[in-house]
Amino acid sequence: MSDIIEEIPAFLRELFTKEYPSEADRIVRGLVRRPLTLRANTLKSSAEEVAAALKGSGFSFERMPWYRDAFLLRGEQRDIEESALFAEGKIYLQSLSSMLPPLFLSPAAGESILDMTAAPGGKTTQLSALSGGRALITACEKDKIRFGRMKFNLARQGAGRVNAMQTDALKLDEFLRFDKILLDAPCSGSGTLVLGEETKISPKLVENCARLQKQLLQKGLKLLKKGGILLYSTCSLLKEENEEAVESALSAGATLVPLSPPEGIPLLTGRAGTLTVCPDGRFEGFFLAMLRK
Ligand code: SAM
Repeated sequence: MSDIIEEIPAFLRELFTKEYPSEADRIVRGLVRRPLTLRANTLKSSAEEVAAALKGSGFSFERMPWYRDAFLLRGEQRDIEESALFAEGKIYLQSLSSMLPPLFLSPAAGESILDMTAAPGGKTTQLSALSGGRALITACEKDKIRFGRMKFNLARQGAGRVNAMQTDALKLDEFLRFDKILLDAPCSGSGTLVLGEETKISPKLVENCARLQKQLLQKGLKLLKKGGILLYSTCSLLKEENEEAVESALSAGATLVPLSPPEGIPLLTGRAGTLTVCPDGRFEGFFLAMLRK
C-alpha cells in the first residue's frame, strides 16, 4: 500500500482498509477534484441544444455513453455559471454519480414519487425531467435554508408541478403511499472527500448518519405501496451507512432488486445486487441499492 492513504483521517483509513482490503489505495487515489459535469434539463431544453450552445460558447466537453443528457466539461471550466444556459435553467450542475439514482428509479408519467430528502433538488428536477414533467412528485426537505434553495431550483428548472414540503420526512403522514421513493440519504460524504482539503467527517458523524439513514429507510418502506420500489443512495463508501442500512430494510421484509451497472462506471466490490461507485477523476464515491416492498 502506498503512502497516499496517510492523507485521510486515521479512523477513515482504518475503515477503508478493513472494509475494502484490496481496494483502499484505489479509493484514496480517487479522492481528487473532479471536472465540472452537468445535465441538460430536458424540461426546458434538449441535449442537442445544450451541446450546440456549449460549442458555440467555446466550451470543450465530452458526452457520457450511458446517459445522453450528461456532459463533462474539459479543460478550463470558466464561466459556465455566467452562461445563458445556466441562468435559463437549461442545464443543472450535477456530479455524474448523482445522476444515477433517478435513472435507476426510471419515473414514468402518472407515477406518484416521493423524494424524501430532496434539497437542493438536483435529483428531484432530474426525476421530473425523466418523466417529461408528468410524474406526480413530492419533494420533502427538513432544512429551511436548503428548502429555499430547492424551491429556487425547482422554479428555475421548470419543475413546476412538484409538491415541495418543508418537513422532517420521519414525520410524514403514515397513511401516505407512493409508487416509488428516492431516499438519497444525508450521509458522512466519505466518497466525496478531496485529498488535501478540510473535512468535517468524524466517527460521531458516521454513527449519527447511520442511525438516521436506517430510520429514514424504515419510514420510506412504510410509505411505499406494496410492490413499490425504493432507491436508496448515499455519497459514502462506508458499509455502516450502506450495506448495513440495506440489511435493516431486508430484515423488515423488503427484497433487493439487483442493479446492473451501465458500461463505463468504475465500481468497487460490494454486496451482490448493489452498486458502489469508486471515486476517480470523474466520479465521486457513491452507493446505490434498489428495494421492493
Ligand atoms: N437529493 C438531493 C439532491 O440531489 O440535490 C441531495 C440530498 S442531501 C444528500 C440530503 C438532504 O437531506 C439534506 O438536504 C438534508 O438537509 C436533508 N435531511 C436530513 N434529514 C432529513 C429529514 N429527517 N427529513 C427530510 N430531509 C432531511
